[in-house]
Amino acid sequence: MTLNLVRMPLKMNELNHHSPKEALEFLLAHGAVRYTDTGQVTHLPCSLTPWKPDLGFVTETEELTTLYTEMYHRVAQDDDFLHTELEKARQADEFIERLFQAKSKESGPKPSIYLNRNDCMPANLSDGSIWPKQVEMNLMASALGEASSVVYRMHRFLSQHTERRFKENYAGRGLARGLAEAYKAMNATGIILLLIPVGEVSVFDQRITETRLVEEHGLKTMRASLEELGEQGEIRAGDLYFCGHQVSVAYFRTGYSPRHYLSEAAWNARNLIEESTAVSVPSARTQLANTKLIQLVLSTEEVLSKFVSAEVAARLARSCVAFTKLDAPFTGIDGTTELGRDHALKNPDDWVLKPHREGGGNNFFGQELIRELEHMNARQSEAFILMEKIRQPVFDSVRMVEGQAIPCRCFTELGFFGTAFYEAPDAQARENIANGYLLRTKDESMDEGLVLGGFSFLDTIQL
Ligand code: ADP
Ligand code: MG
Repeated sequence: MTLNLVRMPLKMNELNHHSPKEALEFLLAHGAVRYTDTGQVTHLPCSLTPWKPDLGFVTETEELTTLYTEMYHRVAQDDDFLHTELEKARQADEFIERLFQAKSKESGPKPSIYLNRNDCMPANLSDGSIWPKQVEMNLMASALGEASSVVYRMHRFLSQHTERRFKENYAGRGLARGLAEAYKAMNATGIILLLIPVGEVSVFDQRITETRLVEEHGLKTMRASLEELGEQGEIRAGDLYFCGHQVSVAYFRTGYSPRHYLSEAAWNARNLIEESTAVSVPSARTQLANTKLIQLVLSTEEVLSKFVSAEVAARLARSCVAFTKLDAPFTGIDGTTELGRDHALKNPDDWVLKPHREGGGNNFFGQELIRELEHMNARQSEAFILMEKIRQPVFDSVRMVEGQAIPCRCFTELGFFGTAFYEAPDAQARENIANGYLLRTKDESMDEGLVLGGFSFLDTIQL
């Protein structure tokens, strides 16, 4: 890394934000870093000035997290629901079909472990208030918990001589603890196998989690790619073995995108996990419950109340924006009904076109949405949904990218991490809590906002 900050003065008093040098050195000292494309190491982008939000928004976003986890746990156990709702999507989308095939290998009921993140935006409602609208629940590979904690600690440390107070954020510690507690509740004795994508640049966050599992919780871990597990894994008397070690938990930090399956061996790894006693975080059925199409179906009170109480269903529904399938009738606020795709073609800035993909960078907005919709046939349409674009107030922030302070007008997205454990499919949750958050602020010019791309950045809630 070539950050010419070594000779920069520590304090930059003329600026009303933390000095880049102080912030940078805190991030480097505590591991909020990533590989660059050329194999060097740099800091993750972060804010130099924390965000002061509407606290009602923050509290509701936090409380929604456990309610969503419980609801998705119930959905993931409902075979009929998953098969019915995803029947057409699996014909149009090979990836969904492969997940169903993995699910069909299930050896029997297993415990469920969740390490989730429920992403919401502070939406402007028509009455002028701010309320959380859900972007998505992440039930797989929820990342940046450790890095978020570092940024919180950086803001707190650099504000030590001020009156500023922050919303505590020990997300990283909480994720490792949730996983370790679940492991102990299962009376497991094997390893926790972290499954990592080949060429991952954001490995450091996972490295801290792994260290916590070993040092703070006394567990044993290993790391592998899906291909390595698929080639070298074997089942003995129902248990999964990798390199001579029994795998008690397979923790996915990969596997949410087709690009993570470089060969058939990767799918073999999925099948081996499902077939064996190893507990998969998440299981294939949980991943299917987490598809965008299921999110669409679960956006009405009527459907939600099949899985949770009427009171919770009403609360969850309040956090949902409008959705439509492309070839289903959609009724706009003016009362006219037309196909979802036609409505979106006339109002491209009100919609986000989403494929059933995770990991960022997959969605279409504005003119791109029009281009995609115009070229899509009926079968391809089943692999996409339309989601109402969330509107939110813009605010000022300063981000630090590659050691440089960059003032910006921003939007943001807040996701509380949730950990949960269920001993059996029908059991009550033994644990279901929210613990810490990822606050991703981004330049208002950005529709998506990948932290690794430098446009969105890690931020902290100021109280
Ligand atoms: P992924 O599974 O790829 O992470 P998301 O649904 O989280 O997909 O969308 C990625 C990003 O796109 C979000 O983090 C957000 O910045 C933007 N986005 C997604 N849905 C909306 C929406 N309804 N309104 C505004 N922005 C959205
Ligand atoms: Mg997302």
